[in-house]
Amino acid sequence: MWLKLILFGVIAVAVYRALGGKVPMLDGEKTVEDDPSGDTLVECETCGTYVTIDEAITRKGKHYCSKECVPN
Ligand SMILES: [Zn+2]
Repeated sequence: MWLKLILFGVIAVAVYRALGGKVPMLDGEKTVEDDPSGDTLVECETCGTYVTIDEAITRKGKHYCSKECVPN
């Protein structure tokens, strides 16, 4: 039983390497442009500063660079 699993693993690695280390069907990696999160820049509604969406503060669908720019 284990021998079959090991053999299957060896074949899988061999096929993987034969394809240049990439399996398109299993390659879920996307470019930054396709990813809406992370390094996407958004403009602060108040002062116009661009900040990454991770750093931005979002209120009612609008983005702000800091607490000071969020209207009370
Ligand atoms: Zn701002």
